[in-house]
Amino acid sequence: MSVAPDHIEIPELALSVVIPIYNEEGNVERLYAELTAALEAIGRDYEVIAINDGSEDGSYRLLNALQRRDERWHIIHFRRNFGQTAALAAGFDAARGEIVVTIDADLQNDPGDIAPILEKFDEGYDIVSGWRQERKESLFLRRIPSMMANRLISRSTGIKLHDYGCTLKAYSFDVVKGVKLYGELHRFIPALASQMGVRVAEAPVKDRARRWGSSKYGVGRTFKVILDLIVVVFVLSYFNRPLYVFGTAGFLVGGVGALLGAYLTVFKLLTENKIGDRPLLQLAAMLMVLGVQFISTGIVADMIMRTYHESQHKPIYYIRERRRSEPVEEAPELERV
Ligand code: UDP
Ligand code: MG
Repeated sequence: MSVAPDHIEIPELALSVVIPIYNEEGNVERLYAELTAALEAIGRDYEVIAINDGSEDGSYRLLNALQRRDERWHIIHFRRNFGQTAALAAGFDAARGEIVVTIDADLQNDPGDIAPILEKFDEGYDIVSGWRQERKESLFLRRIPSMMANRLISRSTGIKLHDYGCTLKAYSFDVVKGVKLYGELHRFIPALASQMGVRVAEAPVKDRARRWGSSKYGVGRTFKVILDLIVVVFVLSYFNRPLYVFGTAGFLVGGVGALLGAYLTVFKLLTENKIGDRPLLQLAAMLMVLGVQFISTGIVADMIMRTYHESQHKPIYYIRERRRSEPVEEAPELERV
C-alpha cells in the first residue's frame, strides 16, 4: 500500500537549476562554463534543466551538444516560443531537486550568487529572492517602472520584496510543484505562494550588463504585469470563494433596488400618484435584476472553483515538513550453529 497519493512527488536530489532560453546562442557556452564552476564549488548534487523556448538561432544545436557532454544537463525544446513563464513552468514540472533555482541565460545574473542564496535558504526559508541592489539597466525604461511595480506588488499582496523581477530566486520543491503558472505570472510566485504560508527572504545579488544579444521585452511588459497583478490580488483574496465577491456586490446592488422599489410601492399606496412612468422605477427594477445576476454569477464561479480544485488535486492545506520515525528494520534471523 502506498502511503502518499500518486500526485504527491518527492525530491530526488539536492538542487535543480532551471534556465529559460530564447535565442541566446552567444551566451550558452559561457553560461555553461560559469554555471558549472559555480555549482561544482557548491558541491551538492545537481541537475540543470534548460528550456529552449522556441529559439530560432543556434541555441537548439548548442544545447543538445551540452547535453551530450554533461549528463547533469537536461534539455526541453518547446515547439514554438511560449514565453518565459511557460518555460519556467516546464522546468518546475521536470525539476527533481529539493531546492529549485531559476536563473536567466543571458548571464545578467551571476551564477556565483547562487551560493549565498542557498546559504540564506538553509536558514529555513521556502523562497529566497535575489535583490539586484545596483541595477545596470536604463533608469527610465527599466528601473523606475520596476521600482513602481515592486512597490505596488508588495503593497497589494502583502509580501514585501524589493525585486520581484529578478529571475535569480530559489524555491523549495513543494513551492514549485504547488503553484500553477500562466500569463506573465512567474514574477508573482512569492506572492502566489504566500497562500501556502511560505517563509520568504531576500539576498543581495549582482546585476550585470547583458553579455550578448538583446532583451526580449519592451515597455509593453509593464501593462501585462499590471493586469497580472489584478488577477493575483483577486486570486489571493477571493480565489477559494468567488461567491463572496460577487455575492457582496449582488446584495448591495439588489438591496438598493429593493429599497427603491419599496419606497415607490409605499408612495403609490399612500398617495394616489401613478409610478409607472417614473425613471426611478426602472432603476429599481434594473438594480434588483442586476443583484440577482451578480449572485448567480458568483454561484457559478464558485462551482467552477470547486471543479478546479478537485480536478487539479489542489490541496486546501500545505505542509511545512513531515517528521516520522523510520520503520524499524526487522532483525535478520540469527543463524544457529
Ligand atoms: N526568455 C524566454 N522566453 C521569452 C523571453 C525570454 O525564455 O519569450 C528568456 C531569455 O532567454 C532570458 C530570460 O528569459 O534567459 C530573461 O529574458 P530577457 O533577458 O530578455 O529579459 P530582461 O533581462 O530584459 O528582463
Ligand atoms: Mg536579461
